[in-house]
Amino acid sequence: MDIPVLHRLALNESPYPPLPSVRKAMRRAVAQANRYPQFHPDLLTERIADWCGVAPDRVAVGSGSVGVALQLLQAVVRRGDTVAYAWRTFDAYPLLTTMVGAQPVPVPLLPDGRQDLAALLAVLDGRARVVVLCNPHNPTGSLITADALSAFLRQVPEHVTVLLDEAYIEFARDTDLPDSPALLGAQPNLLVLRTFSKAYGLAALRVGYGLGSPDLVARIRRQQLPFGINAVATAAVEASLRADDELRRRVDTVVAERERLRCELLGLGLHIRPSHANSLWLTAPDPIEACAAALTADGVAARYYPGEGIRLTVGSRAANDAVLAALAGVGRGANPVRRLAARS
Ligand code: PMP
Repeated sequence: MDIPVLHRLALNESPYPPLPSVRKAMRRAVAQANRYPQFHPDLLTERIADWCGVAPDRVAVGSGSVGVALQLLQAVVRRGDTVAYAWRTFDAYPLLTTMVGAQPVPVPLLPDGRQDLAALLAVLDGRARVVVLCNPHNPTGSLITADALSAFLRQVPEHVTVLLDEAYIEFARDTDLPDSPALLGAQPNLLVLRTFSKAYGLAALRVGYGLGSPDLVARIRRQQLPFGINAVATAAVEASLRADDELRRRVDTVVAERERLRCELLGLGLHIRPSHANSLWLTAPDPIEACAAALTADGVAARYYPGEGIRLTVGSRAANDAVLAALAGVGRGANPVRRLAARS
């Protein structure tokens, strides 16, 4: 018998539905759905640029940050080039790489879940065109510090574009956090990738953006589908920017829940490293197969990579409590497979 999913913690989504003010803006836009959105999303681009404190010619908007990443690859990669990234990472990177006819170069993570910056630099030969860094990292939640990022950028060859994926940056609280927009002036081959899908809770609406040099941004914009950003999504993003303070408080709650969840899981005897994203990473020496079975049995959907780990999104308090209840037996050494059998 299939066990119903009670808590969706597999996709690093926000546990919160859109704010009432955001829903109202969306309803207004729905009422005018017979009209096209802008041919190019110029007004939205200006709003985002203003909010980020950069010039509009440094901002490219796309269909989710994954859409902007594809536009970047389409703009800079030629068939036969290589795209390097730490692996495991966000599943889209190998897909996007092959979509543009490039060759993926996955570089294993360090044993502690950090991206191996030295090994990534070492694969950047003459064929390399893009290197992806994910900060904080999906799925491990590890962070590249400001110093480590600066050292990396100093050593990257000029012909390689650095795609710095900051989809989870709003959840990072570390004092060593890079101020990546401030690096753009000195780094024409850097694109900082951000999204409204995670901290801003608009995953279904597909709006992301990249910050880069005017030259790189112009090349990315040339790959933009005309009428490609829909009007309801545009209205929702504009309303979310107006409600920034309220949305930031939601992010603070998720961060507090992340810390509570980790602390309680450590108390259960699991070994979970600090995370800077909206997820926790369960891996060896913890019994991940048993943990995955226990979560499934209790109706918690998490992202399970057999043999590697489990990425567990930080959810609502109730969802996190369900995780703790599910893993209590495993952490204390009980056999969840037996619990599973007892239920069926
Ligand atoms: N980057 C990373 C690291 C992600 O984990 C995700 C989504 N899981 C994305 C980008 C894509 O986000 P979106 O396209 O919704 O902006």
